[in-house]
Formats: sequence, C-alpha cells, structure tokens
Amino acid sequence: MSVLVVGSIALDTVKTPVEEHADLLGGSASYAALSASFFSPVRLVGIVGHDFPASEFDFWKSRKIDSEGVQQASGKTFRWSGEYSWDLNTRETRSIALNVFETFKPALPESYRQTDFVLLANIAPSLQTHVLDQMERPRFVVADTMDLWIETTRDDLDALLPRVDLLIVNDSEAREMTKETSLIKAGRKIREFGPRYVAIKKGEHGALLFGDGDQFFSCGAYPLEDIRDPTGAGDTFAGGMAGYLAGTVKKVHFNDLRKAMIYGSVLASFCVEAFSLERLRKLTIEEINQRYEMFKLMSQFELPA
Ligand code: AMP
Repeated sequence: MSVLVVGSIALDTVKTPVEEHADLLGGSASYAALSASFFSPVRLVGIVGHDFPASEFDFWKSRKIDSEGVQQASGKTFRWSGEYSWDLNTRETRSIALNVFETFKPALPESYRQTDFVLLANIAPSLQTHVLDQMERPRFVVADTMDLWIETTRDDLDALLPRVDLLIVNDSEAREMTKETSLIKAGRKIREFGPRYVAIKKGEHGALLFGDGDQFFSCGAYPLEDIRDPTGAGDTFAGGMAGYLAGTVKKVHFNDLRKAMIYGSVLASFCVEAFSLERLRKLTIEEINQRYEMFKLMSQFELPA
C-alpha cells in the first residue's frame, strides 16, 4: 500500500563544527518520502519555488515517489539554515525563509485522496489538518511536529491530535507538551491528548513507544562512530516507520510498531552519515536489512553459553 507524505521541501544551509554546506536539498517531506520509499510507494505533497532543481523530480520518479502533489510556484523555495554545536545534539536555527510556503494551501490530487497510510511530516498543524480533511478515511495516520508548533500554535496541534494514530516527538518536545520531567509520564499523558500510540525519540539514546495499557517498547540507537550531519534524522525516522507500516501491514498492531520503530532507527542512522540526503540516495535495501539484523543481535541478552 502507498503512503501519502506531506511536509516541507527545502533548500538548507547547514553548519557543523567541522564543515558548512549551502543550498542542500532538505525539508521534512524530502527526508520522510525518500526514507518511506524503501518500503512502499509514496505520494508526495508539498510546494517548491522556481529555483528548485528539476533533477529532483526525475530522482523522485526513479524511486516510486509520485510528485503529482508537489506544486511548483513562482517564488523561492522554503529555506532553512541551522548550526550545530560540538555534541551535534544541540542545534540553533540561524534563519528561516518561508517563501512559497507562506501562501501554501495543499490541494490533494484526486488520485491521492484514498491513500490508506498518511504521514503528516513536520509542518504547521493547520496544514496537516487541511490535508487530512481532504482524505477519505485513511487507515493509519502518523504525525510529526516540532517545538515551534507546540509553542506558537498549540490549539491547532491539540485539535489535530485526536485524529492521529501515532504521534512522533522528541524528548524535549514531549516534556514541553506535558510539563512532565519523566518521559514515561510524558508518553502516557500525550496519549490522553488523542493519539493511540506515541513514539518519543531520544536522539543517540534511542526511542520509546507507548500504546494501550501496558504496551511499551524501548530501543537503543545504532552505535555510529561518525556522524556528519544530524539534520533530517527525525524526519527519516518517521518516514521509515510510516513506510514500513504501509508496505507490510494491513491492520497495525503494537508488535508491528515495534518493528517499524527499528526500521525508523536504522534509516535515521544512515541519514546522519552524510549531509542532506546523500547517504539515503545511495542506500540499498540489503544495507538496511543488515543493520536491522544488527539491532536484533544487540538487543538480545539471553544467549546460549
Ligand atoms: P529534523 O532535523 O528532523 O528536525 O529536520 C530538519 C529539516 O526540517 C530541515 O531540512 C528543514 O528544512 C526542515 N524545517 C526546519 N524548520 C521547519 C519548519 N518550521 N517547518 C517545516 N520544516 C522545517
């Protein structure tokens, strides 16, 4: 089954303590769509400007990513610039230019409306809702968000949450949403806001998953030696989860989500090995499966002597 992905498509400028690169392909939907496409066909929704490289449309075509839902407007593409500190965990946004995003109102192509799986990648919650409003009863809705929306458009986010099956947030966002210091309490409390399942990402420390009653899962992150650029790891994680579910599961159960979370972690671990989408572009399903098997081995603690 296909997954519809809506989010930002951007040109990023990224600075780490060791290098800086400008005008790289980025945006939540770019990362999420490519990540999901390893497991299922993708229907992409977004907007780009006249300065957006045409070669990207060809690349999407070569990867089962339908770009009929990507509008090309006459202004400039959305731009974001960020700078990381030495631990590569803390990031500061240096600048943001909404450009064509300012007036964006996604209109879904007719052929997208019946998509069973939806990933509302990080954009304003009102836009995420607007996309959902145009869909005919999707089976499973995954949503991502960020601190900006928690701080500036909380009412819009709260209105969306009851329509979301799986909400993905990072640890600081979970604490900010709930005013809880404990992530376990935060995960349970976010479920009370509406989503049936909640995933909390902890960066290099892995992720937590919360479901009904005592349904709980925790996994580590892949122990990478070299991280070059963490940008897009969260979006890639969400794309991997949603793509895996769409591509392999008819009705989603908690056990499927456990596996999906490992695939999300695997994809994110590749994403950070290079700037922009460069590592993901070269990635193969064999490499994904190899790292998935490594995860399995790493989480076993009862082995025969
Ligand atoms: P992540 O590292 O997973 O938080 O995602 C980074 C990506 O988010 C970058 O490629 C940015 O282009 C994109 N981004 C940054 N700010 C926003 C925003 N306010 N809305 C949508 N996308 C954004």
